[in-house]
Amino acid sequence: MFDIAIIGGGPAGLTAGLYAGRARMKAVLVEKAACGGQILITDTIENFPGFPEGIKGPDLADWMAKQAAHFGLEVRIAEAKSVVLGTGAGGPFSVELSDGAKVQALSLIISTGARWNELGIPGEKELAGRGVSYCATCDGPLFRNKEVVVVGGGDTALEDALFLTKFAGKVTVVHRRDRLRATKILQERALANKKVEFCLNSVAVRITGSAKCEALEVKDVNTGSTKAMKADGVFVLIGLTPNSDVVKGIVKLDAKGYVLCDDDMKTSVDGIFACGDVRKKLLRQVVTAAGDGATAAFSAQHYVERLKGVEYI
Ligand SMILES: Cc1cc2nc3c(=O)[nH]c(=O)nc-3n(C[C@H](O)[C@H](O)[C@H](O)COP(=O)(O)OP(=O)(O)OC[C@H]3O[C@@H](n4cnc5c(N)ncnc54)[C@H](O)[C@@H]3O)c2cc1C
Repeated sequence: MFDIAIIGGGPAGLTAGLYAGRARMKAVLVEKAACGGQILITDTIENFPGFPEGIKGPDLADWMAKQAAHFGLEVRIAEAKSVVLGTGAGGPFSVELSDGAKVQALSLIISTGARWNELGIPGEKELAGRGVSYCATCDGPLFRNKEVVVVGGGDTALEDALFLTKFAGKVTVVHRRDRLRATKILQERALANKKVEFCLNSVAVRITGSAKCEALEVKDVNTGSTKAMKADGVFVLIGLTPNSDVVKGIVKLDAKGYVLCDDDMKTSVDGIFACGDVRKKLLRQVVTAAGDGATAAFSAQHYVERLKGVEYI
């Protein structure tokens, strides 16, 4: 029986594990792939404090995992398939794993992250991290005076297109419809910005480049004609999908599937906490995932101590 079971070993889960370990909680982290989450596929992270020159994503992942292990976090490599609620106050919760085993814990922390929706076109996977990006906040500064294309027509796409004009020389927004979905004020700002151009009624069909991204091929949805546009960077901003299936039907989710929690990372179920990209929040970054993880572990610790009747003097 563990005090805390953490599902997902990205920055949020690993930070939760570090805090749980230092609080002398008996904690286990279940990760289906390798610890690190999305930062394993991030070349350089320039906006995590403490690294003036930036840090390679896999290096940060490795150090986070080692630091949590140093304080006693146990890691199980398996996929959490389902969560079974205990009966009565204090559970315990049961997590069923892909290897057939079960983990039992007095509290749960859900840190399963999210995944960026992909276009699924040739060149996208091959050039990911070499010009193809899913995060303007993360990669925008790498495109100073370059020509970039944003694929998408929603609020995120336009907000990020405007953000990218701080760095890029030209930002072209490619959208499949004849009008954008983004709120009017964002559309007005984008239309007024001399660096922003629009390519409407068009779908992205191929990204080309040898060592790095060079061009995006688009198809006109009305005429079927194709053209290539120069693109030092292609930002795919067509939404994010939270990895919340494991707690679907158990905790409250919003319409998009993000876990709803309060400022203390408490979900709608007593004893279940959530942190990082899987929860509904404003900014999905490594630093906010780590902050959430710390709060979730602290809340889980207090929940477990209350169950055990630990008194604070
Ligand atoms: C290409 C790219 C570049 C980025 N660049 C930056 C940057 O420069 N700066 C920055 O701050 N942020 C950046 N981000 C965003 C940042 O990586 C995320 O905000 C952060 O990783 C979120 O952490 P997390 O722990 O919440 O989730 P994740 O990193 O998504 O980790 C979730 C983990 O849970 C595991 N998991 C999911 N479901 C299960 C299950 N059922 N059972 C077991 N394990 C499960 C996954 O395998 C994964 O390891 C970037 C993201 C991407 C994709």
